[in-house]
Amino acid sequence: MSRNAELFDRACRSIPGGVNSPVRAFRSVGGTPRFVARAQGPYLWDADDKRYIDYVGSWGPAILGHAHPEVVKAVQEAAVHGLSYGAPTEGEIRIAEMLIERLPSLEMVRLVSSGTEATMTAIRLARGATGRNKIVKFEGCYHGHADSLLVKAGSGLLTFGNPTSAGVPPEFVAHTLVLDYNDTAGVQAAFAEHGKDIACVIVEPIAGNMNLVKPAPGFLEALRSECTAHGALLIFDEVMTGFRVGPQGVQGLTGIKPDLTTLAKVIGGGMPIGAFGGRADVMKHIAPLGAVYQAGTLSGNPVAVAAGIKTLELLSAPGFYDKLAAQTRKLTDGLAASARAHGIPFSADSVGGMFGIYFADQVPGGLAAVSASDIERFKVFFHAMLDEGVYFAPSAYEAGFVSSTHDDAVIGATLAAADRVFSKLAK
Ligand SMILES: *Cc1c(COP(=O)(O)O)cnc(C)c1O
Repeated sequence: MSRNAELFDRACRSIPGGVNSPVRAFRSVGGTPRFVARAQGPYLWDADDKRYIDYVGSWGPAILGHAHPEVVKAVQEAAVHGLSYGAPTEGEIRIAEMLIERLPSLEMVRLVSSGTEATMTAIRLARGATGRNKIVKFEGCYHGHADSLLVKAGSGLLTFGNPTSAGVPPEFVAHTLVLDYNDTAGVQAAFAEHGKDIACVIVEPIAGNMNLVKPAPGFLEALRSECTAHGALLIFDEVMTGFRVGPQGVQGLTGIKPDLTTLAKVIGGGMPIGAFGGRADVMKHIAPLGAVYQAGTLSGNPVAVAAGIKTLELLSAPGFYDKLAAQTRKLTDGLAASARAHGIPFSADSVGGMFGIYFADQVPGGLAAVSASDIERFKVFFHAMLDEGVYFAPSAYEAGFVSSTHDDAVIGATLAAADRVFSKLAK
């Protein structure tokens, strides 16, 4: 028995499903999850000491590669001075200032400990600041696991949603309107009917939780104009895209200014952190200035903040994102060319250091199109690549991530492995 299998058996006895976050369990691809022993640069090593080229990157944070020496050093230096104080530190001001400098829509920012906490609080803030209850989200977008966001569309157009998790009372999602991503007419209809009751629209401005799906031309613009016209707040959930698709997130790429932005993943450089921020007049509704309550024992944790500051500094190197985007494009172009050469229906897309691969002729524009891709073939591809020592996300509904340590040799080795796999898949 492999050591991975042994560990998985043992994990399943003390941890539900053997994992601390469900997608790690390989349920959607089958097989035994790999237990990670260590990681460096673009590589992971599992419990059997097999090496993998990693395209998950901790689901986004590892943009500088794993265990970047300068980030590790920043963490070590911070840890020596104490792990947590429950009192403010200068580092928190520094990272807040760095985020505000970098993201055009941020005037004030509050740190939390995860993306879930950031989105949950941004929604509460939007409701508190507007005095309205209803929120709009899109099918296929993931905003963490807060109750009111674990919801799928109801049966009819413009009906309020149904919970997607046991333990969420229908009443808790009764105020959540779920629309199709990229359905601009649906958004206009929702505002025409419910506009005066809508507190906010929350959106992944480039979606990365139904594989990679980009916004259609005019979609984000319509969200901005509908929110403005009806006094609702626009929340860009940039937990995944922030500092991943470019130096200013999707708001920098599109020039569209949300009222609130949520961040996590990259801004902690691998340590637990999250943040929400935006217009000062809205942020001033948060306690202790305002009546919207939010707090956290470990919020602004000094070690996480040190990792975040060092990561943001390194991301500011001239040309960083151009290089990252070019490497990512080499990967996706190479995969698509190789699959097509073997006659396999396949497409790929990327933005900055984030990519999507789809066993479908065309890049999908929403959840239904992703679901219509050849998911069975993805599973075979996933496992064959794993055998080849390449670790893609264990689900056809997840985006992939490239780091600055994925150099030409690493991308070349990936493409050589993929070509062998595609050639087998074609038979
Ligand atoms: C990962 C993610 C979250 C949740 O963040 P956690 O840190 O896992 O709680 C929220 N929104 C988006 C867009 C994400 O990708």
